[in-house]
Amino acid sequence: MSVIECVFCELMSSGDAQWVKQDGDAVAFLPLPEGSLAPGHTLVVPRAHCVGVQDADPQALHASIDLVQRLSLAMSSALGATGVVVLNASGAHSGQSVNHLHFHVVPCWADDEATFWPSDRSVHSVAGEPRTLLAEALS
Ligand SMILES: [Zn+2]
Repeated sequence: MSVIECVFCELMSSGDAQWVKQDGDAVAFLPLPEGSLAPGHTLVVPRAHCVGVQDADPQALHASIDLVQRLSLAMSSALGATGVVVLNASGAHSGQSVNHLHFHVVPCWADDEATFWPSDRSVHSVAGEPRTLLAEALS
C-alpha cells in the first residue's frame, strides 16, 4: 500500500476529521461514530506513514506515545476518566484495520462495565521457549 492509498495519510492531507489535536509529529482524532467504543475514544496516529510499531521511525513512535500519555491525562481531567485502555495492532494477522500505525485510546470509568481486554487466546506454538528466544533477540 502506498502512502497515496492510505486512508489516514489521506485524512491528514485533506484535514477532514474530528480533530482532537492536529499539529505536531503525531495527531489525534475521533474514530467514525460506528467504531467508537466509548465517549471520547480517540485515535493517535503518527504524521509520517508507517504500517506498525515494527517499521515506525523512532521519532514518530515517540511522538505518538507522548501524545497517548497527554491524551490519557486529558481524558482524566476533561472527561473524568479513571483509566484508559490503549489498543494497537501492528502487522499481518494482528487484526490491524488500517495499515497506518494507530493507537486507540479508550477512556474508562468506574460505573462502566465495558472491558476491552482480548478474551481470545492464541493456539499457535513456537519452536523453542519464547522468553529465551525473545531475550536472545534483544541482546
Ligand atoms: Zn499512512
